Amino acid sequence: MEKLMNCPVCNNSLTPVQAGHVTVDVCAGGCAGVWFDNFELQKLDEPHESGGHLLGNIAAKAGLQIDHASKRNCPKCGDIIMMRHFFSARREVEVDECPNCGGYWLDAGELALIRAEHQTDREQQMAVEQYVEEISTKSLEPSRLGGRTQAERARRITQVLRFTIPVRYRT
Ligand SMILES: [Zn+2]
Ligand SMILES: [Zn+2]
Repeated sequence: MEKLMNCPVCNNSLTPVQAGHVTVDVCAGGCAGVWFDNFELQKLDEPHESGGHLLGNIAAKAGLQIDHASKRNCPKCGDIIMMRHFFSARREVEVDECPNCGGYWLDAGELALIRAEHQTDREQQMAVEQYVEEISTKSLEPSRLGGRTQAERARRITQVLRFTIPVRYRT
């Protein structure tokens, strides 16, 4: 049994919520932020991954102002101050990450933004795959090797378009 945590933004007690395969901790009735232990976020952030949508409906306290600029301590580690950084390549959504335990704090609505971003990436990915397929079917005598190289390239392009790895993993 894990110890209960307090919200790093409004100090409300966090409530464990089952979302798909993972348990996250939400600030229900407070600022409606969500805490993800290390790796939990990766399991929830794409639109097809079940459970993520459940977290869009957390009740927030009316009129509560969220200070996005303030430093926040990790709800799990206590004394450790979380780092704020962009979560995705498109640099639209910022999250707080604990440098100690690798957990993430998302303010209300940030998860939905991340998921919406991926939705668009998925459409781009499909467009790229279609494009590559057109190229390969148009070439008259595609060698086996050539076909494989093209497939490999397509895979890399789609990986780039789907790039969602947190900043710390970038080289
Ligand atoms: Zn809160
Ligand atoms: Zn931590």
